[in-house]
Amino acid sequence: MKFKGKVALVTGGSRGIGAAIVQHLARGGADVAFTYAASDQAADRIVRELRLDGRRVLSIKADSRDPAAVRSAVDHVANQFGRLDILVNSAGIFYAGPVENVSLQEIDDTLAIHVRAVFVASQAALAHMGTGGSIISIGSCFAQRVPYGGVTLYAMSKSALIGFTKGLAREVGERGITVNIIDPGSTDTDMNPADGPTVEAELELMAIRRYAERSEIAAAVGFLASAESRFITGSSLAIDGGFTA
Ligand code: NDP
Repeated sequence: MKFKGKVALVTGGSRGIGAAIVQHLARGGADVAFTYAASDQAADRIVRELRLDGRRVLSIKADSRDPAAVRSAVDHVANQFGRLDILVNSAGIFYAGPVENVSLQEIDDTLAIHVRAVFVASQAALAHMGTGGSIISIGSCFAQRVPYGGVTLYAMSKSALIGFTKGLAREVGERGITVNIIDPGSTDTDMNPADGPTVEAELELMAIRRYAERSEIAAAVGFLASAESRFITGSSLAIDGGFTA
């Protein structure tokens, strides 16, 4: 039970990669809270399943576009569970299309969820975190390599996490808190289904030509949240089947 006694918060934990992270941390013994924006039923299902396993699990409807909601979700978790050890910033959206077609709303939403909410959640979490704490953000392989057009906004938002992570790692290293990024490649979720229209184009760019399982991303988050990785900070770990190789 490598996370026994730890408390984790995962943003965007109702579906996809975030849900797999919630499950991984809870099965490792952590008490886990997660936020989501709209999927009430999916969130309830996860809470029910994990509570049957004997875990303390909390779902919080908190839209990452609203910084006050993000901040109060973090404080609520620390108050309910008495501490906060692990923050995983996973909530995300994906708008694709040429730059000319991107609306101001899409720019605002993407930056609010992928950048501002990560900053605000981390800021709030640090008020509760002590030695051994971990902040892990889910970036994207597009932060390192953008081999085609149509993903400019998304790539811009995810590459901002690199500066954030390096800067914050410097600020909290002496407090025994690590800050890292996981950069997934194509991973089978609602956002990017393994039978979607862009599959062939994505596989062509990879050394290992298949989609990642959500559990493969969650396992790496588990490693970065564990005691074995305490000397890793300010890093980005690509889990992309060689997309950025
Ligand atoms: P999904 O669309 O499957 O799930 C997205 C999750 O984020 C859901 O839980 C959703 O909640 C939540 N979310 C979305 N918008 C908000 C919001 N405004 N406030 C709070 N929560 C929100 O996506 P993935 O699991 O594929 O993506 C997870 C992360 O991984 C994202 O950051 C994404 O950019 C990144 N990623 C994904 C890749 C892939 O190939 N799948 C590749 C590289 C990176 P709700 O259910 O309520 O909508």
